[in-house]
Amino acid sequence: MSHLLHRTANAVMPVAVGGRGIELIDAAGKHYIDASGGAAVSCLGHGHPAVREALHRQLDTLAYAHTAFFTTDIAERLADCLIAHAPAGLERAYLVSGGSEAVEAALKMARQYFVEKGQPRRRHVIARRQSFHGNTLAALAAGGNQWRRAAFLPLLIETHHIDPCFAYRFQAPGESGEDYAARAAQALEDKILELGPDEVIAFLAETVVGATAGAVPPVADYFRRIRAICDRYGVLLILDEVMCGMGRTGTLHACEQEGVVPDLMTVAKGLGGGYQPIGAVLLSAAIFEAFARGSGFFQHGHTYMGHAMAAAAALAVQETIVRDNLLANVVAMGDHLRERLEQRFANHAHIGDIRGRGLFHAIEFVADRSSKQPFDPALKLHAAVKREAMARGLMVYPMGGTIDGVQGDHILLAPPFIIERGQADAVVERLGDAVDSAIAGLPAG
Ligand code: PMP
Repeated sequence: MSHLLHRTANAVMPVAVGGRGIELIDAAGKHYIDASGGAAVSCLGHGHPAVREALHRQLDTLAYAHTAFFTTDIAERLADCLIAHAPAGLERAYLVSGGSEAVEAALKMARQYFVEKGQPRRRHVIARRQSFHGNTLAALAAGGNQWRRAAFLPLLIETHHIDPCFAYRFQAPGESGEDYAARAAQALEDKILELGPDEVIAFLAETVVGATAGAVPPVADYFRRIRAICDRYGVLLILDEVMCGMGRTGTLHACEQEGVVPDLMTVAKGLGGGYQPIGAVLLSAAIFEAFARGSGFFQHGHTYMGHAMAAAAALAVQETIVRDNLLANVVAMGDHLRERLEQRFANHAHIGDIRGRGLFHAIEFVADRSSKQPFDPALKLHAAVKREAMARGLMVYPMGGTIDGVQGDHILLAPPFIIERGQADAVVERLGDAVDSAIAGLPAG
């Protein structure tokens, strides 16, 4: 009997014993292509020698020093690296241990910023439906996934939600991309006006939506309009790039493709590539100055923030991405993967949408393509596809059920940036078989 509480209480999990390149290996010696990068984490794959070496070196130097007493050379170097490559305007990095911690810290920074500025009335956070920002309580409150939130509603702080920018599900028939971008962004202005412009702290959104909706890129101009609305009312823009950032979509930060710079940005997953738990908040000079000139500190902190081993892993991962020019491979292999997915699924009776950017793609399942009617959530098609894929030595990230009544099951692909053409072909081939087999296994009718 296992004494671990697994995600699914009675699950019998395969035991991972090794990893090499884009593959994980279980105790029975079976190899799995990690086409989901865990959950968009393992950007360099497994067992990368540069990261191993950096971690050994750091362990021999210093594993941990509490940030109330010391800074470390490695944390300073990581912050320098992050800011050197960040969009102009983001000037400080706050290092934490993961995505949820980064979102919590960003929300508290946004609130404290207005307290420092003498605007304590500002208290509302606006976020979007079909979003996920983490499982800690404030991040969960900000997220829009009802399934994840339901049991905890009495514990969640009030957060206000607007519809996301999600063309497949929300763009009206015949509506141009431009009109849709304007309409989707207008929802933010309407919500700000409803709540009172001087009472809103921030708008929080994933630049490309990840786990809940499945690799949903915004339509052109949506975020430029969002930025303008935030500026009009002095509301901070927080972009959550925990999943879509750090190169996943082909640029280091997904917001580069939108032509906007947020006031706060959260990153994690690909930052450390899974070699160590790490996340970060990148913040604007204005927010830093408000703390520096005001109370003198950001009223927050975690025991493991700025952990030297985590910083060493992240710095090695980020330096490797630059040295090996891996963002070019993300773009090239992203295009190739997309082409293959379209060849295999564009005419598939039960694939409604193929979407994404770079090495961040999803396919959404529908019972009926013309009405976009999802499958009955009780069938748990996404779980069946995951199971069938695992049987074929393929990891894909499943997400399912209808979300706020609009969405179908989907699976997410987020393979390591080192993936090669033949490996991408193998991913699509195995996925195609897994999908067909999962659908064939659904009860008739
Ligand atoms: N934000 C986004 C956009 C995420 O996708 C996730 C994790 N899936 C989180 C926050 C939370 O990150 P973590 O699981 O590292 O706490």
